[in-house]
Amino acid sequence: MALQIYNTMTRSKEEFVPQEPGKVKMYVCGPTVYGYMHIGNARPVIVFDMVRNYLESLGNEVRYLTNFTDVDDKMIRKAEEMNITVAEVADMFIAAYQEDLAGLGVKPATMNPRVTESMDKIIEFIKELEEKGYAYENGGDVYYRTGKFADYGKLSRQNLEELRFGIRVEVDPRKENQEDFVLWKAAKPGEVHWASPWGEGRPGWHIECSAMVREYLGKTIDIHGGGEDLKFPHHECECAQTEALTGEPLSNYWMHNAFLNIGDEKMSKSLGNGLLVKDIRARFKAGTIRYFMLSSHYRNQLNFTEEALLSAEKSVERIALAESNVKHRLELAPEGAEGEASAPVTERLAAITGSFHAKMQDDFNTPDAITAVFEWVSLANQTLAKTDAAAADLAALLKTYAEMNAVLNLTPELEAEVASEEVERLIAERAEARKNKNWSRSDEIRDELNSLGILLEDTPQGMRWRRK
Ligand SMILES: [Zn+2]
Repeated sequence: MALQIYNTMTRSKEEFVPQEPGKVKMYVCGPTVYGYMHIGNARPVIVFDMVRNYLESLGNEVRYLTNFTDVDDKMIRKAEEMNITVAEVADMFIAAYQEDLAGLGVKPATMNPRVTESMDKIIEFIKELEEKGYAYENGGDVYYRTGKFADYGKLSRQNLEELRFGIRVEVDPRKENQEDFVLWKAAKPGEVHWASPWGEGRPGWHIECSAMVREYLGKTIDIHGGGEDLKFPHHECECAQTEALTGEPLSNYWMHNAFLNIGDEKMSKSLGNGLLVKDIRARFKAGTIRYFMLSSHYRNQLNFTEEALLSAEKSVERIALAESNVKHRLELAPEGAEGEASAPVTERLAAITGSFHAKMQDDFNTPDAITAVFEWVSLANQTLAKTDAAAADLAALLKTYAEMNAVLNLTPELEAEVASEEVERLIAERAEARKNKNWSRSDEIRDELNSLGILLEDTPQGMRWRRK
């Protein structure tokens, strides 16, 4: 089976074929950096990280670009409010954004071009549109002439007549047609600006993505992603700008994630009305937030509630416990992990991997792929219940889990888990105390370990420990 992706442009699932085998060019619209990341914006960030991880797990080299809009009206207002420069606002919130990404277990993009660093490319793009008759200047502003681009509306399936009717209320006399959009804005006195053939000003929002894609990825990319709220007008305008110049598609596949609904009062009360990722991260682990986001298909709406996060936390806990127990038992195994895993374990792992890939290849069906992860949890627990579990079986279990987790990244925290000598010494001492029926010393040690963040579990095979 080959990977199928739902393409917004054609409204259907299509087999994914990159232009160059083994290489994927991907662009996801990035944030305007005037504030901290809101939980609603964490959804596309996690969804497209998962998409990229999956493409990489299939052996593709993915060039993944996300832009930073580091100048616009909101940035200018924020700079005035904070009494610092626009560039300082950008630096501050880009750093915070990257910290949030790391805290969500999201890989950094291959490249994060900034608008202010791509100004000559943007101006060049607008100039070419003007030369071809797709742009016109009026009083220092430059607009895109939508009437000249026959395909305008094809991505969002908007009817131009309806659009015209819809925006008749606010007539802008500077535009030839009301659906025309701004490519370049003349600067107001005192505002941050750049020199251009049309006078001092700054770019409109839509043009930056077209210019950056062309500059850093080329004419046509494989996947363009973003939230469904960007479909119109933003992505429609990106198509119009690029395709007017190249005559070729901007992207072969368009992916849009559905909204994250936030209507839960309890959640707002406990986390503040801002619902910022940095505050949510303080209460929930990266794996929990990722599990919650990926437990619903990316094209379905998702409700952000306290209950949903608490339930995600419990689910991740079950997965993490199985993973850590398998790791721990393998470390204690007297024989090495060389040799073949047993036939029943090999067979069941193959079935789990097969089902994981079948679900992922069906337009990234992560909720069902997570079901395969829980089949793995059952197999892990059944294997651990045997006192004579073979090291080769445990190693095979871990390998399969690592493959699935490289895509979903539900337990990033466990990487930090390393047995320390102190913990091992205390556990040995406690075992000795219990053998001598010295229950008070045994309890003391349990408390001591607890204060070190170590939980002990009595299992049929003896004592096991894990970090909280
Ligand atoms: Zn964009």
